[in-house]
Amino acid sequence: MGFEKFSGNPRVRDYLTAAFNGKTVPHAFLISGSDEEEKRNLAKTLSGAIVCTGENSPCDTCNACKKAEAGIHPDIIWKECEGSSIKVDEIRAIRRDAYLLPNDGEKKVYVICDSDKMTQEAQDALLKILEEPPRFTTFILLCYNHNSLLTTVLSRVTHLKLMEKSESCGVDDETLESARAIVRAIGERSEIEILKAFIACEKKKRDEMHEIISCVTMLMRDGMVKSVSRCEMLVDDHVSDNISKISAQEIVEIMDVLRDARALILRNVGVAHVVAKCAVQISGALM
Ligand SMILES: [Zn+2]
Repeated sequence: MGFEKFSGNPRVRDYLTAAFNGKTVPHAFLISGSDEEEKRNLAKTLSGAIVCTGENSPCDTCNACKKAEAGIHPDIIWKECEGSSIKVDEIRAIRRDAYLLPNDGEKKVYVICDSDKMTQEAQDALLKILEEPPRFTTFILLCYNHNSLLTTVLSRVTHLKLMEKSESCGVDDETLESARAIVRAIGERSEIEILKAFIACEKKKRDEMHEIISCVTMLMRDGMVKSVSRCEMLVDDHVSDNISKISAQEIVEIMDVLRDARALILRNVGVAHVVAKCAVQISGALM
């Protein structure tokens, strides 16, 4: 149901779930990444959610959802790149069509594949409608490299960046979520939040906790030197903003605490003891 199937991209999944629950769905998206199939799957689910007439979009059970899933919804229009580029006339045709009322329901969606192959003129033409879109129209742009798009276009879309397979570094969702919670708490420099985030892990098995601490170390390092690591996408912008407020000296101390914690776990010290010690020592490093 919903966006759950995108659990490999927790940030995207959580964002879309919140946007649809809060009914604050943007009128234009950009989905970027190198996995063509994943991008198309997300575009399909997202367009289904937009035209869905059920209670919780996408409900997967209403007629609109079923048509979207089968790829036969008349108000979901896919634009494929048919040559080496997408030309201005093709975008103008879309633009004219976008002002016509939907056939079936209240919304219509245009999915533009390979949007990074739009010529500059085509992008300018698209920009006009992105600036003032008809209230019933949503655009979903797919691309490999978002740097090929004009900054003016980028500024009008909500960018959903899909994680590269190598970037997940083999860390499962649950580990990543626990590690992120800890890093977020450290970034907030809140003793109580740090304690809460660690205590939430006290029932973990030793190997799981070892994994979480390794992941925290990785996130801290990635937050510091965003461009160096292949795992940088694991850190969301909010986390890296917060980490940037921690001094290098503090980070060094925290890294020491984390290294000691891993060593303790390997020496069979109980997880509950290790998490409590971590929380106290990290808070101490930040005082
Ligand atoms: Zn539905």
